[in-house]
Amino acid sequence: PLVLGIESSCDETGIGIVRGNTLLTNAVSSSMDEHVRFGGVIPEIASRAHLDAFVPALQSALREADVTLDEIDAIAVTAGPGLSGALMVGVSAAKALSVATGKPLYGINHLVAHVGVGLLEDSGIEGHGAELLDQLPREGLGALLVSGGHTEILAVRDITSDVELLGATLDDAAGEAYDKVARLLGLNYPGGPAIDNAARAGHRKAFNFPRGLSARKFMGTAENPGPHRYDFSFSGLKTAVARVVEGFETRGEEIPVADIAASFQESVVDVITKKAMLACQEKGIKTLLLGGGVAANSRLRQLAADRCAEHGITLIIPKLSLCTDNGAMVAALGARLVAEGREPSGIDFETDSSLPVTTVLI
Ligand code: ATP
Ligand code: MG
Ligand code: FE
Repeated sequence: PLVLGIESSCDETGIGIVRGNTLLTNAVSSSMDEHVRFGGVIPEIASRAHLDAFVPALQSALREADVTLDEIDAIAVTAGPGLSGALMVGVSAAKALSVATGKPLYGINHLVAHVGVGLLEDSGIEGHGAELLDQLPREGLGALLVSGGHTEILAVRDITSDVELLGATLDDAAGEAYDKVARLLGLNYPGGPAIDNAARAGHRKAFNFPRGLSARKFMGTAENPGPHRYDFSFSGLKTAVARVVEGFETRGEEIPVADIAASFQESVVDVITKKAMLACQEKGIKTLLLGGGVAANSRLRQLAADRCAEHGITLIIPKLSLCTDNGAMVAALGARLVAEGREPSGIDFETDSSLPVTTVLI
């Protein structure tokens, strides 16, 4: 099926068009620059930016894919989770398009769409597209999603109907922690790339920062799992970094930015890869997909590759333009749902800022 996908859950307005597993176009417009001076995404600004960006993005996507709205078989849109005002812009636009064209509308889960992007032949994952579909029903897939809004481990047994949340952050998302720590270190927003760069000149063991929720009372054992075995917490880490920075400031010493950046990064990446490995081993998952903007992180890629190799897990990482928020992933998952003959959502559904991963299609 020819499917138009619409994404507006955070600061990216994305319009993607796919034909089955083939990506035709992926138009993305980000309001990131408008949030720089605030050091984080401001929901009001993001919503306004979606309003401005939607029609131009739609027009450019249709032009680039060389299709008309008439030819489209279905429209898919992110229904949640995300910022409610931002979600509402994409969903309202999608409903309007659906009413105007008579095309069926599918309201889908943003997190599952991050995994669904792996279904595309052009995902950058070697051999994927059809192969992932073939493999999923047999052995399932794990997903480690790390972005400015999410830090989650999913078990995906059937991407259209059987997704389980194994663990998530209890406070800040990993990307959010990067952004906040970058601010403490006087680095620019977005903090991820800034810290990644600064860390290259630093020592990973210069500071021994805490690994959130890795104490035995949270982890438990394989036989007797603790309450947060696969969960994450980064607020304690952020506080620990703040205390170290304050120490240097009160002593009037220069802040060792590179060493703090490298040590902070090691704490984040160590704990997320370790918990992801644990989840894969204990749930019998043999393939792990890495997604979200933090998948750009050089140390995360390295450690994830090392640890997956060590544990006999196949690591797959879509190309970066498909790891960050985009419309192609929404279209890809939408196309799969259409191909399986699933009922469309209709136009009465509401956005759900905390839509659970178990709801693939609203
Ligand atoms: P969502 O959470 O809905 O997926 P988002 O806009 O918050 O949306 P993305 O656009 O996927 O997330 O990613 C942005 C985040 O990724 C930011 O927090 C940014 O700091 C982080 N990031 C980008 N590059 C890197 C990097 N090299 N290392 C670490 N973090 C990075
Ligand atoms: Mg973003
Ligand atoms: Fe996302």
